[in-house]
Amino acid sequence: MGLLAGKRALITGIASDRSIATGIAEAMAAQGAELAFSYQGDKLKSRVQAVAERSNGADRIIPCDVADDASIAALAQSLADCWPEGLDIVVHSIGYAPRELLAGGYLESVTREGYAIAHDISAYSFAALAKALRGQLRAGGALLTLSYLGAERAVPMYNVMGPAKASLEANVRYMAAELGAEDIRVNAISAGPIKTLAAAGIKGFRGMLSSAEQASPLGRNVSTAEVGNAASFLCSPLASGITGQILYVDAGYHILGLIGETTKAD
Ligand code: NAD
Repeated sequence: MGLLAGKRALITGIASDRSIATGIAEAMAAQGAELAFSYQGDKLKSRVQAVAERSNGADRIIPCDVADDASIAALAQSLADCWPEGLDIVVHSIGYAPRELLAGGYLESVTREGYAIAHDISAYSFAALAKALRGQLRAGGALLTLSYLGAERAVPMYNVMGPAKASLEANVRYMAAELGAEDIRVNAISAGPIKTLAAAGIKGFRGMLSSAEQASPLGRNVSTAEVGNAASFLCSPLASGITGQILYVDAGYHILGLIGETTKAD
C-alpha cells in the first residue's frame, strides 16, 4: 500500500510535463492518492488532461485563476461536488511575476503594480485557497507550497519574486499555527532550480542552474520526481509531526557559505 492510500489531493499549477506540479502529481498517484487538478486557463487544459489521464484524475479537472475570488469559490464548489466527504491534501504550485521585473536590478525593475501582482499570485493565493477549502479539509490533512532560496538570499534577477517567496514562507508559518488545531499541517518545499516554463521567465535562470550544478554538495540539480517524492512524504502520515517547515530539496545548495570551487574539498 502506498504512503498516500485513501488520501484525496488537489494539485494546482500544471502547465507542462516539466512543471514541478506534474512531478508531484505523478509521485502522489504512485503512492496511491486520488487526485483532482486545477488549471489556470483553457490554453493549459489539454496539458493537465494528459497528466490527469496518467494519474487517474481525468474526471476531476477544474479551471481556477487564483487572481479571481469567484474562480477560487467555484473551484471549492466543484471539489465539494466531486468529493462530498472532503479532501486531504492541497498542493499549491503557483507563482507569477511580470516578466520585465525578472531582469536587471531589483530597484531598477520593481514597480508598485508588479510588486502587488507578484505577491497576489505567488503568496496570497496560498492563503486564499486555504481559506476557501478550509471547511472541506479532513483532519490529518496537509497543505503544501513551493518556495525558492531567493526568499532568504539575494539571488541576481530573481528580484521581486524574492520578497514574494519570503511572504509565502511567512504564510506557511501563520497558516500552520492556525490550522494545527484542526489537525491540518502546512509546509513548503524550497526546490533547487528546475527548467520549467515559469523558470524560463527569469533572465538569470541559466546562472542559477549552473551554479547549483557546480557547487551543490550532490554536484547536480534536482528533478521534479525528487520534489514529488519529498512532497508525498510531507503530505503523508509519515510526516504527521512536521508542520510550518520549509524543506529544502536542492541537492544541499542552501547550506553553503561560499559558492564555488572553494567550498569543495581538494
Ligand atoms: P510552471 O510554469 O510549470 O508552473 C507555474 C504554474 O503557475 C503554472 O501552471 C501556471 O498556470 C500557474 N499560475 C500562474 N498564475 C496563475 C493564476 N493566476 N492562477 C492559477 N495558476 C497560475 O513552473 P514551476 O517551476 O513548476 O512553478 C511551480 C512553483 O514552483 C512556483 O511557485 C515556482 O515559483 C516554484 N519553484 C520553481 C522553481 C524552479 O526552478 N522551476 C524552484 C523553486 C520553486
